[in-house]
Formats: sequence, C-alpha cells, structure tokens
Amino acid sequence: MTRNVSTGHSVIEEIKSRLDIVEIVGETVPLRRSGKNYIGFCPFHHNVRTPAFAVFPDTQTWRCFGACNTGGDVFQFVMKRDGLSFSEALRVLAERAGVPLAPKTPEMEARERERARLREALAAAALFYQSRLLESPEAEPARAYLADRGLARETIERFGLGYSPGAWHALLDYLKGRGFSTEELRAAGLIVVREDGTAFDRFRGRLMIPIRDPQGHVIGFGARALSGEEPKYLNSPQTPLFDKSAVLFALDLARAEIRRTGTAVIVEGYFDAIMAHQAGFANVVAALGTSLSEAQLRQLRRWTRRLVLALDADPAGMHAVLKGIASAREAFAETSLELGPRGPVRLSGQIGVDLRVLTLPEGMDPDELIRRDPQAWARAVETARPVVAFLLDYLAARFPLEDPKGKAAFAREAAPILAAIPDPIERAVYIQQAARMARINERVLLEQVAGRRMEETKRVSRKASASAQASKKAEKERTPRGDAVTGAEAMLLVMLGQAPDLLPYLHVRFAELGLDPLSEEDFSNSTFRALFRNIAELGPVEEWPEEAGEPLLRTAWERLLDRYGGLARGFDPENVRWAENAVRYALWIRERQLKETIANLHALMKEIPEDHLREFMEKWQQLAVALNRVQRSLYRRAPQGGRPFVAER
Ligand SMILES: [Zn+2]
Repeated sequence: MTRNVSTGHSVIEEIKSRLDIVEIVGETVPLRRSGKNYIGFCPFHHNVRTPAFAVFPDTQTWRCFGACNTGGDVFQFVMKRDGLSFSEALRVLAERAGVPLAPKTPEMEARERERARLREALAAAALFYQSRLLESPEAEPARAYLADRGLARETIERFGLGYSPGAWHALLDYLKGRGFSTEELRAAGLIVVREDGTAFDRFRGRLMIPIRDPQGHVIGFGARALSGEEPKYLNSPQTPLFDKSAVLFALDLARAEIRRTGTAVIVEGYFDAIMAHQAGFANVVAALGTSLSEAQLRQLRRWTRRLVLALDADPAGMHAVLKGIASAREAFAETSLELGPRGPVRLSGQIGVDLRVLTLPEGMDPDELIRRDPQAWARAVETARPVVAFLLDYLAARFPLEDPKGKAAFAREAAPILAAIPDPIERAVYIQQAARMARINERVLLEQVAGRRMEETKRVSRKASASAQASKKAEKERTPRGDAVTGAEAMLLVMLGQAPDLLPYLHVRFAELGLDPLSEEDFSNSTFRALFRNIAELGPVEEWPEEAGEPLLRTAWERLLDRYGGLARGFDPENVRWAENAVRYALWIRERQLKETIANLHALMKEIPEDHLREFMEKWQQLAVALNRVQRSLYRRAPQGGRPFVAER
C-alpha cells in the first residue's frame, strides 16, 4: 500500500478506514454479491442491460466498466453522486465516520464568520425584496413586467424574485433594525457608503433577481430597471462571496437536472434561464454578461462535460462567442502568442469539456423559442454543433471561398483552430472537412496545421521551463524514496502544481500515444487524487483561491513540496526534457492503474454470468491495448529525456 506523506493524508485514510464503501454505494445503487465483490447498474450512465458497475471491498474502490469508464474510492463516489467538491465530500464523510477534522486557525474562523454574516445579510435582503414585490403597492410596475413576460407565481417564488423600494434607505433601515452593521451591509454589496460616512441602498426601484451559489445561498443580486433608467441591469459588486466572472445564475436549481440529462445549457440572460426552467428545461444556467469564463466552464464540469452554448443568430450572438474567446485569451494572457479563436478549442480540450454551440433561428432569443416551440428548443440542444464545426462554418461564411485570396485567408484562420484540437483523430477529421469546405488541397492545410502545432508544443515546453526554477544539480543529487510508483505520482504532482502548462502538454502527448487523458483516477490514493483534481480545475497551487483549497490538501501539498520540490526543479529553458520526464512519470502511473484495473476486471469476470461476459471481454481487450501502448512507449522507445529520475523497476 501507499505510505503516508502528510498529516492530511492520514486524516483522509482514517475516514476511509471507518467507512464501508459497499454500504455507502449500496444506499443508492442496488448491489448484488458476486464472489468477493459486488456488481450493479452504474448510476452515472444510462444502462439497463449489463451490470457493468463493480465495488471491490478489498481495496474499497469502485469502477464502471461501461460507458463512463471511471472509478475511484468512496470520495470520488460521493463527489460524483452528489456533485460535491472534495472539501464538501470530506466534511460529509468525516462527519459520518466520526473523524474530527483539524481545528481551524483563528484567521480562518474569523473569515468564515464574516462570510456567514454576509450570507445572512443577503438572505435577509432577498426576503425583504421578495415581500416588497408580493405586497407593496409601489411594486405594481414590477408585477406587471413579470406578468407581461409570462412568469407564473410559482416561478417567481422558486427564483425568489423581489423588488427594491425606490426610497434611499429602505433596506438599510430594515437590516440595521435586524442587527446588521453598516460595514457588514457594505461588504455584502447591499449599500453604498459615501466619503462622509453616510450610506444609501445600492438597489432602488428595481426588479431584484437573487444570484445563488451552487448550494443555494444568495451571494448577490442582479437588478433590472423598470422605467428605462440606465443601466438596464445593475449587478452586485465584487464581494468576498460574489465573483461575477465565476458565478452561473440558476446553477443551484439546475445542477440535479444537469447531472440527470448529462448536458448543461448556457444562455446569456437571467430571463432566458428563468423561462427555460418554467418550461421544464431545468438544465439551463445563465452566464452573467455575455462572455464565458474558464472559471465558469470548470464549475460546470463538476456536473457534466457536455456544455451547450445557446447563442442568438444575430451579430450580437456572434459577438458573444468572440467575447468568450476574448476571455479565454485573458486566461492565457501570460503567453505572448496571438490566440485567436483557437482559445475555446484549446480551453475545452484542456479542461476536458465537450463544448458545443447551439444557434437560434434568426432574431430569436432562447426565451422566445422555448415559448413558441419547446420541441424545437429540445431539438436544438440535442443537435448543437461542436465548437470547432461551428467556428469553421463561421469562417467559411466570412471569406469568399471561390477566390484564391479568400481560400488563403480561410486556411490561415482555420489552421490555429485545427491545431488546437488535442485529439489526433478528431483533428484529422476536421482538417479533411475544412479542406473540403474551402476546396483546398488537404495536404496544404495539413502542413499549416503541423506548423502551428510545432509552435504550440514549443510554447508549452518553453512555458513549463520558465515556471520551473533552478538547477539540474538537484536532479542528480536526490532520488525519490519509497515505492517507485507512489514516488512518480508525488513527483508528477509537484511538477504539475508548479507548471501551469504541463497538464495540457501531457494531454497532447497522451493523445498522440492513443491514450485517454491523465485523470485523477490514475492516482493511487485519495489525497493525490484530490490534489490532482484541484490542480486540473484551479491551476497551479499558488493560484488556488483561498476558500477553494481544503486546508488538509494544502498541508499535503506543502509536505510533498518539502520532500520532492528539489527534484521537480531543474531543466534548462528550450529543453523539452523536463516535460518529457513528466510524461514518463505519467506513463508509469497509468501503467499501474491499468494493471490494477485489469486485475480487478479479471477477478470479476470469473464470477460473471456467461451472457454478460462478451461485453466485459471487450473492455478487457481495450484495457490490454492501452497497457500495451503504455508499455511500448515506456520500455521500447529510447527515452527522449535520457535517464529518468526514478530507477526503472
Ligand atoms: Zn457508468
């Protein structure tokens, strides 16, 4: 088994040791005993024929051998089942196991108290606004507006819509009367404090739309003008609770349906989302403002990987995509290269989401389409096009393709988009398609794309080199102790946690080898899995927002850094060797994971009824092929980076 590398690690293992995965899984998945193990139907994909979901009491792990091809321990199961973050799952399971979590520092407690206080103020404000909307004579225009838009009373209550009175101190007086201080109300974004210390309500005479976090706490408001004043929409300012670029409106009400349907639809406006929910399409969320941020994509990825962007067909809708691209560009602002429209392509490949674009009929917004023809909306979501296909169509419409200059311009713009597709087969298919669209020679386009990819690979390795500091000397002086593969996992994590572009590089290299991207399931213990997940979702450890990093994970990270930090440093710029060493670690880790999965499957197959065997055989073959690929690149190919840090077994 693995060794403890941190106190964080031991608490997590302690929790696991007190819980029985069979019992926890069995609460929601009917399990049938099969020898030592248990099998059932996977709760994460639709299946009624073959029970492809197995729980292994010996290792306290589970795995779906069917469509999802995922697995893990009790933490992954609860996170996936309930859509929780690692920290949330940790609290739930710690309580259940009766394991006290480490006491918080006084600063952490103070911060949590402050946030709790702001949440209380916002919840009280939402109730105040709601009662005004329902009761106040002054709110008549707001009620008329909602009636005009066709909102049912039930919808108004479900979303907790409200009205802010026109007076300057209505909310201020009310909440002060309930014991909140001016400072608390200012910090919550509810009031504005003038230089002379006097204060007034931020929102006055507006329709109030509460914005909630995924757990359903009010964190801010969108406020719509009712009598033509500007701005039409006024949002809460940035506060400790409210980060406009990361929040998604209606996610709290949508997350269960997103998980059930496997699709999240992203619209632009509050009312598009509200009306979709009212019509029964509860997997719809709204991005506040028109651009989509990386943080929003990462949020949604916790519930599904299929994301559909609903855009108006008019230039404004197109503008929204371009703005989405702009925000992707900001995410890579530190790179000096022009990113162009490949932003979302690379971004979606990098964070592993299937980003699609739904175009609405000319001149319609989602609200109108849903109202006119709910079936058409359902069809549009179903048939949304992959973002690459959408962008190619867009380019084809923009350039005169009958003219050689137009063809050249098309190829020039399409090449970086195509080059950003991480999967080689997918890339080849799109190159073929693009060449056919513009009636240009496929080879010419291929060369352009290859040139772009060279730049991309160089850029990634340069970037990785820049973020790793210091000397080659450390590499020679030390070798990781302990189990070689656990060492490789630790090393790889330390590298990933410091070099933001290393993960996309690994994804590209794995795709080139015909392997699935590295994922948290490749790691052998809960701590490493959680660290990997955080790094993949939040980027380098230094950039984790304060409240996102579970303290236990930070402790575990610091221990890792102490122990392996020296080794992860050290490669000279312009050399891909360092990144290639990371690839090698990743391949070892995958090798171990595949061997273990094959052994598990093998054990299961001995006990499986004949009629189900064929499907498991197929799975077994796929795993064997993957293992063969891993071993071929590990042991037959001369390593590009020379001798690796960890001795071969
Ligand atoms: Zn499954």
